[in-house]
Amino acid sequence: MPATATEPLIECDGLVKIFKVADLEVVALQGLDLIVDRGEFVAIVGASGSGKSTLLSILGGLDVPSAGRVVVDGHLVAEMDAAERTGYRRRVLGFVWQQTARNLLPYLTARENVELPMLLEGISRKRRRARSTELLELIGLADRADHRPGALSGGEQQRVAVSVALANEPALVLADEPTGELDTATAREVFDLLRDVNRRLGVTILVVTHDPLVAEQVSRTIAIRDGRTSTETLRRRALTDAGDHHVIAEEYAVLDRVGRLQLPRALVEALGLHRRVRLVLEPDHIEIWPDASDEGADDDAANAPANGSGGGAAPS
Ligand code: ADP
Ligand code: MG
Repeated sequence: MPATATEPLIECDGLVKIFKVADLEVVALQGLDLIVDRGEFVAIVGASGSGKSTLLSILGGLDVPSAGRVVVDGHLVAEMDAAERTGYRRRVLGFVWQQTARNLLPYLTARENVELPMLLEGISRKRRRARSTELLELIGLADRADHRPGALSGGEQQRVAVSVALANEPALVLADEPTGELDTATAREVFDLLRDVNRRLGVTILVVTHDPLVAEQVSRTIAIRDGRTSTETLRRRALTDAGDHHVIAEEYAVLDRVGRLQLPRALVEALGLHRRVRLVLEPDHIEIWPDASDEGADDDAANAPANGSGGGAAPS
């Protein structure tokens, strides 16, 4: 069931992932919602352990969610059988991992690595050769086509990895900290390449990163906190009065399907918001006020004495 061009490429609805380790349950994703349109270049950021890799594994058909719905390019990813999953990974997706060794086979040359996904898809030798030439030129490594990964720098290896990911003309490239092992200058080259690929080929790219540099490259940054999307930062170009281009970055809170909103921690702490807030509808916006009845009486209800000492100042 191929998707139509107007549908989002990725739609995650209430994704939950629970890992069971012995008797312990780890909730890696707790109701994550995400929509990505075709042609977007999106960065996913978040603290270590926030669920970024788990999300990518589920989108990539490498793992299944415990609950929730995930549709990628019209495929119900969680419901595919093993054969469909393999085809999906080969034809719809490209992957770039952090560990250069996971991206490339060490005993194949750069060109052979780029041709391997096409070989597995039964594409003719002639077409493989033409496509690998085109891709190696695109990443600026045509002159290194016959080098094995061991003879390439870390940055070159990741650029080849991008070509491998693009070999079968995927709808979506998933990259999990692709520059995590690179220095800043080399990381920038790899991000420049990803942006270039996104613009020139129109392929949708979802990249997980710790790197603040990325923020300048992508149109949207999605922050994940505790297994949920918490905020999104959109960037757009605008003209100053003097006529110069500059980039405006605006942070948004994410509204889920049923209207729930997660406030950024910094805002909650700035006003000492606690348990509940008062909402006031204005003609074109909504105000959020601290709970006026919350006069510091039960900052921590569980620890407060039953009769309360009262009279405390409101949390500030
Ligand atoms: P991130 O990529 O944002 O650092 P992960 O998605 O790797 O986060 O992990 C999210 C949470 O799920 C963490 O608490 C992690 O320990 C846990 N987790 C991830 N994979 C597994 C697994 N295979 N088994 C058990 N727990 C896991
Ligand atoms: Mg990770």
